[in-house]
Amino acid sequence: MIPTGTVLPATDRESIRMAGAIIRQGGIVAFPTETVYGLGCDALNPEAVARVFEAKRRPSFDPLIVHVATRVSLDRLAETISVGDHRLMDAFWPGPLTLVLPKREQVPDLVTAGLSTVAVRMPAHPVARALIREAGVPIAAPSANPFGYVSPTCAQHVLDGLGDRVDLILDGGSCPIGVESTIVSMIGTWPEILRPGSITLAEIQEVIGLVVRAADVRTVAAPGQLPRHYATQTPVTILAAQGERPVLHGHERAGLLAMSALGHADERYCVIEVLSPSGDLREVARNLFAALRRLDAQSLDRLYVEPCDEQGLGLAIMDRLRRCAVSIS
Ligand code: AMP
Ligand code: MG
Repeated sequence: MIPTGTVLPATDRESIRMAGAIIRQGGIVAFPTETVYGLGCDALNPEAVARVFEAKRRPSFDPLIVHVATRVSLDRLAETISVGDHRLMDAFWPGPLTLVLPKREQVPDLVTAGLSTVAVRMPAHPVARALIREAGVPIAAPSANPFGYVSPTCAQHVLDGLGDRVDLILDGGSCPIGVESTIVSMIGTWPEILRPGSITLAEIQEVIGLVVRAADVRTVAAPGQLPRHYATQTPVTILAAQGERPVLHGHERAGLLAMSALGHADERYCVIEVLSPSGDLREVARNLFAALRRLDAQSLDRLYVEPCDEQGLGLAIMDRLRRCAVSIS
């Protein structure tokens, strides 16, 4: 037995073996993926799945994504019917694309929040792949953070939020992408983007033709995509434009989350974090959640956030920031 919240280096083969055994025995392992850290368990073991919901304090109406390493194991979980399904998998798997497909019976209802569909992904991160192979079962994994808080992009983030509720944390360094997977539903007449992510609308469209983006993701189609999510303790205000100088109230201790290093040498802020000196959106995404967490630890009265263009990866970045900025009341 190892103590709860043990962190082991993912580069060590023995760590992966131990993690695989924990998953097979119904335990919980946090592990790196290319998007964010996941809180993984055996997707086919309802008791293990229940423990993940409990650890995260995640409401049971919010379904989990199931992670596989091969198409063969996918076929046991979901029906792939359309040509589009296969085209998308060929183009983007392994990688940060989640597909919602008709579920097969063996997937526990708890995983899918009672839906007749299941969300599946084949991650590209070598540690995630090694873990799924070692466990020998599909791994259900939400992001490894308490429900509603900013997603974790390194092992320390997991330890901070869930250290006392996870059996083992595999430390594989920082996540290379930093925002969650793009979720595409293949259920309706047209493929629908339920959550924007690092694979862009344009990239998906190029592979399968017309894609309808869900206008309102707060429907039952994507039950967990609540308006307030990824939220900091500190109230967040999104500025109208990069470089805008907001009116600060009284002695407000304000911080700024800037997209690039351009034009905001503003001495009124107690702290400024620049997500990417050159404004490169991939770098912005990679640094986003860690920067939000650092700023949230500064006891600021308010955090001002610069917007980026809602194009390509910018759509996923602004989606997360808007959910973070929805007020609590
Ligand atoms: P997370 O694991 O925190 O990245 O969140 C996974 C998200 O995937 C959930 O919040 C849902 O919005 C979405 N999801 C999972 N399963 C389904 C499904 N069967 N149908 C639609 N959306 C799903
Ligand atoms: Mg999450």
